[in-house]
Amino acid sequence: MHTIDTVVVGAGQAGLATSHELTRLGHEHVVLDRLAVGDRWLHRRWDTQTLLTPNWMTRLPGHRYEGADPDGFMTTAEFAFELRKYALRSGAPIVGGAAVERVVPRDDRLEVTTPSGTWSARNVIVATGWCDVHAVPAAAATLHPSIHSLVSDEYRNPSALPEGGVLIVGASATGAQLADELRRDGRRIVLAVGGHVRLPRRYRGADIMEWMDRAGTLDRRIEDMPDPVAATREPAAQLVGASGEPRTIDLPSLAGRGVELVGRFLGADGRSAHFDERLAERMSRADLIMHRTLDRFDGYIERAGIHAAEPHRPPPVAAPAAPTTLDLVGAGIRTVIWASGYRRDYSWLPPLLIDARGELRHHRGVTGIPGVTAVGLRFQRTRRSNFIDGVGADATIAAERAHARAAATAAA
Ligand SMILES: Cc1cc2nc3c(=O)[nH]c(=O)nc-3n(C[C@H](O)[C@H](O)[C@H](O)COP(=O)(O)OP(=O)(O)OC[C@H]3O[C@@H](n4cnc5c(N)ncnc54)[C@H](O)[C@@H]3O)c2cc1C
Repeated sequence: MHTIDTVVVGAGQAGLATSHELTRLGHEHVVLDRLAVGDRWLHRRWDTQTLLTPNWMTRLPGHRYEGADPDGFMTTAEFAFELRKYALRSGAPIVGGAAVERVVPRDDRLEVTTPSGTWSARNVIVATGWCDVHAVPAAAATLHPSIHSLVSDEYRNPSALPEGGVLIVGASATGAQLADELRRDGRRIVLAVGGHVRLPRRYRGADIMEWMDRAGTLDRRIEDMPDPVAATREPAAQLVGASGEPRTIDLPSLAGRGVELVGRFLGADGRSAHFDERLAERMSRADLIMHRTLDRFDGYIERAGIHAAEPHRPPPVAAPAAPTTLDLVGAGIRTVIWASGYRRDYSWLPPLLIDARGELRHHRGVTGIPGVTAVGLRFQRTRRSNFIDGVGADATIAAERAHARAAATAAA
């Protein structure tokens, strides 16, 4: 049994930022991960994938992007190597191949079990990621066995898929980008659309993320959101960070290039897939929210006296007529890609920390078990919390909290 002040579980950006801050405080800790640093960015992404946030937003405690293209978008593989450099430069004490199987409170300490050893710690900081495990609807099991089915994390490039059409389930950032790439490959693409966020890539002469950063959108606090649970479930905006000319991908532009839009996937009975009837309603809601967001940016630009380019709003769109049933086999759809989001696996934590939806019970990252905290959750404190350019502030708070608790329990 190893005895230590703090165990950080997860060596992604959240765990590494926390480790950087613990090291700054001279605090004894270890970072446990079942994989190696950057593996999720290297092995769960497609070949052409880039970050959605511009390079200047790659900011972590003690690290910022210093390359020649601050307004460009690095590939996810490049970001994996940035993380590896960050871990090396920070001297993060990482133990790889250490999947945490159990955390059990014992007196005022926490026992952390992995196949490669057990740690007794005063603090456990959960940094296992919001996008931990793919969430695939149960109805996926009802697809015809001749249809190849994969989750978006398994997709690499068009040539790795069987020939023929593709049904993509989910039209957030990932589903929209895959529809774009596979349509360019000349395939028939059907895109099943649930709740989504439409935004132009650029607005009034700047990247949309710049306005979100400057106008305070990313700093909205969870307690100020009208529906905090809904806020944590906000879909990722339909954006692409491709190299070259910045471009917008949204449902109108995809439909204009021949992507067939349908409603939310409800299930399949063998050959046929069923979709709901709410495509038009969702598209007009996404437009409404987009215009409200752009109104806020206009207000900010005016108040701050910024000489920005004239506002050119994306045009309103009529939803196409969409079938609610599609004979997939008859339509030549040979593949279904689930771009249906993620869930968290907390099966290794004490059950009292987990709510009925399987989410961690916490307030701003602090749980009901002394010493157990979290970093990197969606909207943990603010909308920025699980962005590369946001986790650092939460990591500093978590590190300072762990340091203070270690000092207090050691003195007791
Ligand atoms: C497709 C995609 C694109 C994104 N693009 C951007 C972007 O462009 N810009 C941006 O700011 N954000 C982006 N995000 C959001 C966010 O930045 C990423 O999800 C990021 O990976 C979160 O970092 P993290 O450290 O919280 O979690 P992760 O990177 O997921 O790291 C968690 C680590 O915990 C480990 N782990 C999990 N369970 C255990 C266990 N039981 N024991 C030991 N180790 C464990 C995992 O192996 C993993 O290494 C994107 C997210 C996704 C899914």
